[in-house]
Amino acid sequence: MTRTTLKRLGIAIVCGLVGLAINIWRTGSSAPLLVGRMVTLPVAILFGPWFGIIASVIAATAGIGIFANGVWVAPLEALQKLNAQSCTCGCDLTVARCRADDPTCGVSLPLAKEIVKQIAAAR
Ligand SMILES: [Zn+2]
Repeated sequence: MTRTTLKRLGIAIVCGLVGLAINIWRTGSSAPLLVGRMVTLPVAILFGPWFGIIASVIAATAGIGIFANGVWVAPLEALQKLNAQSCTCGCDLTVARCRADDPTCGVSLPLAKEIVKQIAAAR
């Protein structure tokens, strides 16, 4: 690979990521992929179809699901809930803390499972 090719590959990847960010942001609106396409299309025009394909493939992953809401927001939401809800076993800790400090606690485990289940079901 020449320096120019590497540089163009880098720009294609950056544009793909920008497109991806826009696609994630616009997901749920009327034409999410079209807006992301506005970023990736110039890459194809300037550098040729291969770089355009790289950029649009990166941008399109927003629609595939790797970065879909349920996949990356749910664990964060679960973590936040686990850290907010207090354990009822008498340990005076949050569910998350109790799981970490007292893995043998028989109360926090079903509590934690229930929280994760609820969030998963809400998606
Ligand atoms: Zn506990």
